[in-house]
Amino acid sequence: MTVPMKRRPALVYADSDGNIFDWPALEMAGASALEWKRPKASELIPLPEGSELFLLPERHPVGFDPVRKCFKALPSDPSNPEKPVRAVAAFMAPAYTQIYSTAYQRLHGAPLLPLFAYTAVGWLNGGFVVPAVRIDLDQRQDLRNFDPQKIERNARKRMKAERKNRLVQHLGRCALTYGCPAARNLFMDRWEAPLPTSPACNAHCLGCISYQRQEGLSATQDRITFVPTPEEICGVAVPHLQKAPRAVVSFGQGCEGEPLLQAKTIEAAISSMRQATSSGTINLNTNGSLPDEVSKLCRAGLQSIRVSMNSARPHYYHKYFRPSGYTFDDAVRSISVVKRNGGFASINYFVLPGFTDQQSEWEALERLVSQTRLDLIQMRNLNIDPEWYLENLGADLTEKKLGIPELISRLHNEFPDLRLGYFNPPLQ
Ligand code: SF4
Repeated sequence: MTVPMKRRPALVYADSDGNIFDWPALEMAGASALEWKRPKASELIPLPEGSELFLLPERHPVGFDPVRKCFKALPSDPSNPEKPVRAVAAFMAPAYTQIYSTAYQRLHGAPLLPLFAYTAVGWLNGGFVVPAVRIDLDQRQDLRNFDPQKIERNARKRMKAERKNRLVQHLGRCALTYGCPAARNLFMDRWEAPLPTSPACNAHCLGCISYQRQEGLSATQDRITFVPTPEEICGVAVPHLQKAPRAVVSFGQGCEGEPLLQAKTIEAAISSMRQATSSGTINLNTNGSLPDEVSKLCRAGLQSIRVSMNSARPHYYHKYFRPSGYTFDDAVRSISVVKRNGGFASINYFVLPGFTDQQSEWEALERLVSQTRLDLIQMRNLNIDPEWYLENLGADLTEKKLGIPELISRLHNEFPDLRLGYFNPPLQ
């Protein structure tokens, strides 16, 4: 649902006490990599329920001045010029893909932004608006569908009843402490449940959310510290596969390293699951580093894979993932292995406006989809400081940009069977 627009949305800013105001003298702007843009009416939607607003330290908001017809920063509080202001970003709820990032001017010495996605936000007709599109209609992580009392009750009951199952204890904490949507759905006995298994990883992603070595950046989740046994994994997975509606169980979660490093354990677990039940979907979220292990997992019963990618251009992939012992080609091979075994394959595609919609990225993505016969692109917003990311990739910002809406329509037109979404679909 786009926003009817007679007037353009106003810039929003935060004062030194953290209160958020609109400033109608400047229009809301967005950023495409480091280029400032004026969002079109067709690109704006109301801020989705479950989204959060972040105040960006040492960054002045940038808006568009309709009188002077130029972009300009708001350097201080309009109501009190002595006072500083900060830019405001939206961290959107799941299932929405951003069209523009937040437009701001970074001050000298500004700290790195934590590992979240920073989408542009403005004020219009008494509400916040964002340049975004709902890319997946599946409601599995819509805030309104979670029942905190039921989650608390079920999690505590299972943690008590299954004391010896370390994975149940870990996922209970994930649901109750971190509010992980997948763990919460597990304790609501529905949809997609998580099966983290690996404390280790063979990549060193710039934006890793479970293990960070970068000064000034902290991981947003603690990494699992043990490898669960196949019995512990099945203790979680089998009842879920048997009774949950639209059941999916997924290896490879934000609170772990790379699951393929535990392929032997996962293979044994999948075999046991399929001996116990033929219901539901068994999925693997992975960096795709070990295609031969993926092949073994397919023979054991793995049905779907999601391979993470910040770019379909190998040199940018390597700059982000900093893989050890594998390459971009291995990740692509893992997708093809699942397709050859009749499985469902998707990529977890990290979207950053102005980078993901570059001409050469589109050409590389076209080749990847054609070559692998991919089924789904999960267009997820990249959780990272955009300037730091582009600097570390050495991204060429002079490239022609299509715009995210144009990228989406080209994918639909060129690959009519390819799905665009956000979540791992149930296959039964
Ligand atoms: S592949 Fe996952 S766990 Fe490994 S470094 Fe990257 S984000 Fe972290």
